[in-house]
Amino acid sequence: MKIAIFPGSFDPFTIGHESILRRAIPMFDKIIVMIGFNANKKSFFSLEKRLKWINQIFENVEKVEVRVHEGLTVDFCKEVGARYILRGLRTSADFEYERAIAQVNKKMHPEIETVFLLTLPEHTPINATIIRDIVFHGGDASMFLPKGLDMNEFKTEK
Ligand code: ADP
Repeated sequence: MKIAIFPGSFDPFTIGHESILRRAIPMFDKIIVMIGFNANKKSFFSLEKRLKWINQIFENVEKVEVRVHEGLTVDFCKEVGARYILRGLRTSADFEYERAIAQVNKKMHPEIETVFLLTLPEHTPINATIIRDIVFHGGDASMFLPKGLDMNEFKTEK
């Protein structure tokens, strides 16, 4: 069984993340979205909300599962039997950052492959930091967020 994990902080999960994940579905038997949890780093949106939103978006997609993990991504891969790590690439800055992580992971765990999908051009400028800023200042970020979510749940954070 080809299992991939899609790790990230997803604070929040955007249409950019959604697109990468949906495009990867035909490539794997199962994709586990791994919300990375770091007890020392405060997120903007609560873990409960992030978990709920991603579950809601993919509730009808049998191949997609959502889990929370604290610690190294590769340890989570071992725990769930995943041999692939899925990541999205937007810019050359993403590439340089991702290249280092993937190459170090590969050195330490040669059995795990990192698979990159290039973002759709229209999703290149979408990043979670900008969306958090829009929400924080009371703007409307709905065009950058997956359809079907309750936008009121995004307004209450501050
Ligand atoms: P991290 O905190 O590890 O950077 P993110 O939650 O920001 O994780 O993103 C998870 C993955 O999704 C990363 O591979 C990132 O490059 C990718 N990603 C983020 N935004 C987009 C986007 N707009 N289009 C495509 N991929 C994206």
